[in-house]
Amino acid sequence: MRTIHLIVTCFLCISSLFCSCSSQNERNQRVKEWMKSNHQIKVLSTIGMIDDLVQIIGGDRVDGLVLITGQLDPHSYQLVKGDDEKLAFADIIFYNGLSLEHGPSLKKTLSERDNTVALGDEIKKIDPTLILTYNDQVDPHIWMDVSLWKKTIPFIVRTLSEYDPENAEMFIRNGQLLESNLNYLHSKIKQQLQSIPEEKRYVVTSHDAFNYFAKSYLSTKQERENGTWQKRFAAPEGLSPDSQLSTGDIKEIVNHLEQYKIQVIFPESNVSRDSIKKIVESGKEKGLDLWIAECPLYADAMGPKGSNGDTYMKMVNHNAELIGLYLRDYNPKIVPKCY
Ligand SMILES: [Zn+2]
Repeated sequence: MRTIHLIVTCFLCISSLFCSCSSQNERNQRVKEWMKSNHQIKVLSTIGMIDDLVQIIGGDRVDGLVLITGQLDPHSYQLVKGDDEKLAFADIIFYNGLSLEHGPSLKKTLSERDNTVALGDEIKKIDPTLILTYNDQVDPHIWMDVSLWKKTIPFIVRTLSEYDPENAEMFIRNGQLLESNLNYLHSKIKQQLQSIPEEKRYVVTSHDAFNYFAKSYLSTKQERENGTWQKRFAAPEGLSPDSQLSTGDIKEIVNHLEQYKIQVIFPESNVSRDSIKKIVESGKEKGLDLWIAECPLYADAMGPKGSNGDTYMKMVNHNAELIGLYLRDYNPKIVPKCY
């Protein structure tokens, strides 16, 4: 039995090694292609959620590349070998801003270049009330509310149009179409989640990425007006998953789970499950019946190609469907297809 287990484990290790090597090879090939001049606008975006919108708006005129790929954490990402070349080669660089990309080397480079646009910061300049802050810390996860993320569209359209005025009309048209698709998605998610009984609409995940989501899709109108919507979402780790988890943090979350009778905790695709495992253990010691959802949510990174989260719209839709499924038909035996 032990031998069979060992063989299976080895097979899984080798196949995962092979998969990661082959996706790395694909990635290297893509970078090589992107770094060849081909009369397209070379756009570098820090995260996939931005690149997805840029490619839809830019159409054939844009050749987009993502800097922070796979399941890497954009909060702490530091420049690696080859990144300087990509940043120097790009005609336009889009990033989220709102202190998302705070890895020192990346932050410094972004602040020094003059062909960058921080989409979240632009939204904040126009209407600071749309941006959430806690203890003077800005919450950068604006893509979690589709109606807020769509506000990046005019800035992408404007930047591309200034660079390539001849194709401005196409960028505007593509932007309008994207906006209407995002409007539809936003209403669909809102309707889907608001139809779940109020007492069940609580979400707990690994890190503080779902505040915008909770405010927009889980809270009641009254909670949004009086500012008490915050209880709809909680996470053991702070606004960036690199923060340390203290005994006090664990205790606070366990109390929250108990107070609102929450039993499921959602893992995130790019965050270790260690912290939520600690919460479950700690809760069980207190007699709470807790469990971790089988499938992860996409928070700071989109899913791999071919997955339920390989585009921005699919990623948000996946999150909403998964959350809706667990909150509505609460049953630990439900194991939905993850990808
Ligand atoms: Zn995050």
